[in-house]
Amino acid sequence: MSADSADTDAQQRKRTRIKLAAWWEANARDLPWRFGRTSPWGVLVSEVMSQQTQMSRVVPYWTDWMARWPDAQALADAPKADVITAWGRLGYPRRVLRLQECARVVTEQYHDELPHTYEELIGLPGIGDYTASAVLSFAFGERIAVIDTNIRRVLSRVFLGVESLGGAASPAERALANRVLPEQGAVGESVTWNQSVMELGAVVCTAKSPLCEACPVADDCMFLKLGRPGLGQRRTRPRQRFQGTDRQVRGLVLASLRELPAGASLPRKDAEKLWDDQVQLASCIASLDDDGLIEITADDMLRLPQG
Ligand code: SF4
Repeated sequence: MSADSADTDAQQRKRTRIKLAAWWEANARDLPWRFGRTSPWGVLVSEVMSQQTQMSRVVPYWTDWMARWPDAQALADAPKADVITAWGRLGYPRRVLRLQECARVVTEQYHDELPHTYEELIGLPGIGDYTASAVLSFAFGERIAVIDTNIRRVLSRVFLGVESLGGAASPAERALANRVLPEQGAVGESVTWNQSVMELGAVVCTAKSPLCEACPVADDCMFLKLGRPGLGQRRTRPRQRFQGTDRQVRGLVLASLRELPAGASLPRKDAEKLWDDQVQLASCIASLDDDGLIEITADDMLRLPQG
């Protein structure tokens, strides 16, 4: 890169940072775990809940959850059936068992305080690169690149002019995220940067229909300049439809167990009325049992885990 183009590159980054910081200031959604209103544990819970569920849907669940179990210790001590029930329709319920395991480790090994290093965070059950980075940035204010699907899409479009193709983050995408991350103390510093880029990807620079006409960084977006080549193109297969999937069947079984009075069980013959395909149903019941989300008693009754 010549000195001139490096200079232009730095200026583009600075302009983008300033515009995004101003946009964030005026437009950030008022989510209850933002703006320093919750503990680091509350931030972690919001990130786990939001992994495969839209943030707006997460809000009522997160609010009730934190009122009931405000810290890791409270969640660690909660009956498993209660946490599975409270997870409600957030989906992908294995996440809740991992979150409770995480709470137990935080309680026992870290005296109910989330650890502050990336290595310690990523060693917790259910915590991957994204969540560890998000907690370090959003809860502890550390300078670290947070890399999720929205951030990858926005950075790739704005700075490279191409679509991010999904799948695992490539080394080039990680390098880009680190290269454009503002220094601590710079205008639009790293925490605001991470949050604002992610928010832009969630509400403006969406995968299929980006609202370029309302975008604060449109003047500097290479993707827009190039005519949005391959808009919406992805490497991964389209998302599987929910209807008829094992996810749907597992969800039906769990929902019927959640509706029972505490400690009650469902006879298997009643569960068999939930779904026509008995082979699929039996396999889903077995997989819920394997995952530890339900128990099958000796007299073939189904129930949420006791204890
Ligand atoms: S101009 Fe369009 S493509 Fe570029 S960042 Fe904004 S919304 Fe995304």
